[in-house]
Amino acid sequence: MADQEVEIAVIGAGIAGIAAAYYLCVEHKRKSVLLIDSRQPMTYTSAQSGDNYRNWWPHHTMTSFTNDSIDELDRLAEESNDVFNMTRGGYVLATRQDDVTGIIESIPGDIDVAHYGDRELIRKTFPALTTDIKNVVHIRRGGDISGQQLGQYMLERLRAAGGRKLQGDVTAVESDSKYRLAVAGADGPSTVTADVVVNAAGPFAARVARMLGTDLPLKNIYHQKIAFEDHLNAIPRDMPFSIDLDAKRLGWSEEERSMLAEDPDLKWLAGELPSGTHCRPDGGPHGRWVKLGWAYNKKISEPQEDMANEPAIDQSFPEIVIRGAAEFIPALRPYVSAPPPRFSHYGGYYAMTEENWPLIGPLDNKGAFVIAALSGFGSMSACAAGKLCAAHICGSPLPEYAVDLSLDRLTNSTLLAELEASGNKGLL
Ligand SMILES: Cc1cc2nc3c(=O)[nH]c(=O)nc-3n(C[C@H](O)[C@H](O)[C@H](O)COP(=O)(O)OP(=O)(O)OC[C@H]3O[C@@H](n4cnc5c(N)ncnc54)[C@H](O)[C@@H]3O)c2cc1C
Repeated sequence: MADQEVEIAVIGAGIAGIAAAYYLCVEHKRKSVLLIDSRQPMTYTSAQSGDNYRNWWPHHTMTSFTNDSIDELDRLAEESNDVFNMTRGGYVLATRQDDVTGIIESIPGDIDVAHYGDRELIRKTFPALTTDIKNVVHIRRGGDISGQQLGQYMLERLRAAGGRKLQGDVTAVESDSKYRLAVAGADGPSTVTADVVVNAAGPFAARVARMLGTDLPLKNIYHQKIAFEDHLNAIPRDMPFSIDLDAKRLGWSEEERSMLAEDPDLKWLAGELPSGTHCRPDGGPHGRWVKLGWAYNKKISEPQEDMANEPAIDQSFPEIVIRGAAEFIPALRPYVSAPPPRFSHYGGYYAMTEENWPLIGPLDNKGAFVIAALSGFGSMSACAAGKLCAAHICGSPLPEYAVDLSLDRLTNSTLLAELEASGNKGLL
């Protein structure tokens, strides 16, 4: 490969790198932007996303950030004739608790919600939910998109505006007045010289930051999902993304429960499991597939180049998540004893900071920027994240939340203490 010189090199062509390059090329008319990735675009974490979006967060900073992103999604959906199939069914938060004052009070006032406390009305409006659900909070601004189609659309637009991509692994970065990136490509090594470098390396962002001489406080946690063909039609095709807010015990037989309780590796399954089982139909009103998830893993992983080698992959996850979801949506119960014949079990890393907020903005070295730590919200927030990163690079006006989403927040001990004390990171 020939050496080349560009104005801006973006390392990583997942949804974050693509969105940053899109806003640089399309909004800011930068002509010399190169997206570098060792993989095909959108094939690492961004291929694993559940593709759900919401403006429901415990803190107004994340609400403003995701509201801006959803505004951009609305705009792009209109402009592209909805090429990424944006739905708008909201998020259903369901609980068996009588008193939901705490839940409602934890939702910032600028989020549009409807509260259903009448059990008859809940049964009529959300017929799939177990009848012991006593309260439902419906977050109005939420739904899903096709992240792959969104990424593809932004890629086409940025290429039409002059942006380019290069397949290769960035193995080292040197800097004096410019950055010199060593790139290992399929045809051999080459050098890319750039004025500006953007670290959009997803789970590898800490590694790329070290090449730039900076440490980033990132950890990676592997989370799993399943998708399956709902041949029993258990899930109504118009059911919104629905989440069980209650911790629960899985419906094991007494014999199963005591066997689990005796096994040191499995005894956690016999006890109480955390809240957050979630379910939604996938593939539109005429589709048959559904997606289930439950982000209960807490162990930190070293990201694997080949995710199939990830030690946290748990072969029993499909059974666990089906059992968990069946406690909440009883029509799923038959799948506990007769698992769906056509299903896929997949997962990926939530690359995150301790407070579960992203890192977007300048790094210590002049001309180096980061757009990372997008955890379980990278598809929904990519547009606002990319727009914000591009605004930092181009010196444009920044939204109010920019400081708190940049590395500057790591020196704001008051904010960090407030977030730690809240105990709710909006993690799903
Ligand atoms: C199971 C799961 C479910 C999720 N569900 C949702 C959801 O419902 N809604 C939502 O909004 N978000 C969701 N997410 C989160 C979302 O998928 C991620 O936040 C998002 O995809 C992160 O994008 P990224 O571009 O930062 O990372 P990635 O997609 O991982 O892209 C990073 C890219 O950088 C490249 N790279 C790294 N190092 C180098 C290097 N040295 N040289 C060249 N290239 C390099 C990699 O090859 C990779 O392609 C989910 C995530 C998971 C794992």
